[in-house]
Parts: sequence; C-alpha cells; structure tokens
Amino acid sequence: MRKYNTVLLDADMTLLDFKRSEREALAKVLRSHNLPADEEVLARYHKINDALWKAMARGEVDQDFLVVERFAALLRTLNAPGDPKVLNHAYELGLGEEAYLLPGAMEFCQVLREGGLELAIATNGLPAAQWGRYRRTGLDQVVPHLLVSVELGAQKPIRLFFDRALEALGNPPRETVVMIGDGLETDIAGGNRAGIDTIWYNPDKLPLPDTVQPTYVCASYEEIQQLLLS
Ligand SMILES: [Mg+2]
Repeated sequence: MRKYNTVLLDADMTLLDFKRSEREALAKVLRSHNLPADEEVLARYHKINDALWKAMARGEVDQDFLVVERFAALLRTLNAPGDPKVLNHAYELGLGEEAYLLPGAMEFCQVLREGGLELAIATNGLPAAQWGRYRRTGLDQVVPHLLVSVELGAQKPIRLFFDRALEALGNPPRETVVMIGDGLETDIAGGNRAGIDTIWYNPDKLPLPDTVQPTYVCASYEEIQQLLLS
C-alpha cells in the first residue's frame, strides 16, 4: 500500500528554474536603470541577497527590509544613485514574468497527479513572483494549490509554515504527507521538524551533511515517481 497521499513540492530549483528567472529579471531591471548588469554585478547582488535571506531566517530582519535593502546595498557598492524601492518593485514584477520550468518538471507533476496524489506547491518567496510564475508555466493546471510563505504568515523551515500549509489542505494525517525539495534547511530540516517525511531532491548529487536527515534522497524525478507511486 502507498504510504503518502499528499505531496508538498518546493518550487524554486525543484520545479522551477529560479536561477534563470532571477538572472534575467535582474539583468533587465539593472539595464533599464542604466546600471551595469555584467556577471560580476549579478554575483554581487546574489551575495547580498543570500546574506539577507539568511539574516531573515535567523529573525534579524524582516522581508520588507530585505527586499529594499538588497538593492540599496547593491547601489552603495556601485556608488550609483537610484531608488532601491523602485528597483525592487520592477524586479519583483519582472520575476513573475520570467518563468522557466526545469526540464521534465511538468511531466513529473502530471505523473504524480495522474497517480492520484494530492499536490501542493509549498514555497518561500514573494507572492507576486510565485503566483506569476505558477500561472505562466502552466503549473496551475496540474498542481491545484500554491502555498506561499508570505500568505501563510510563516516561512520554511519554521514549523508554523508546515502547520498552516497542511491546514490549507484540510489537515491530512502527517504520516501520509511528504515534502520534496532541494533545500536541505528549508525543505528537509523544516519538514522533519514538522513531523513529515522528506525527499531531498538532489539532481547534482551533492554530498549530504550529517546535520540533516532526509527520509529519502532522489537524484531524478523518475526516482521520486517510483518511490511515491509503486
Ligand atoms: Mg528550492
């Protein structure tokens, strides 16, 4: 008998090519404001942005601060004038428009759905960007629920995120739920803490640190399908 009925899917780098969206949206915004958008500047932005997301996960800053500060900090390092709020707004809109599925992601979701599993995307991130990409990629036709951290009032890996996500799905028994994602801290440690099994999606076959223990590790969508549907 199958163990899982409900599948929580991470979005970015599990189903969606977020790196490409981010890169293209960012380059467009910078160029349209006459700012440099070469590799070095994009890398600089990523460093700033990553540090801020980590600070937010530690509870040191909130999201309203983060989204503006990442551009304010970038402008400071470029010694360039500009309104970071305007840049961020344009970027968030652009991010919703730059929607790219990872190869095979749509078919993967279709197979799971046809196999009778209840699917929901459970993601951190900004609602405008996540909803925009969910619809543009057509994932909304296959995955009936999109649960975004800001709208749930808590973000992965906090337990409350998973509590609220499951509540939105009618509180299925936790032993029948599995979280799939590429994020060891957000998806795997978070899922574990919330009392649900986890599949670490690890297509790059990265080493697993001993601080995190996924229930399963899968390197391809096919492996996950087999695990869940057989
Ligand atoms: Mg991810």
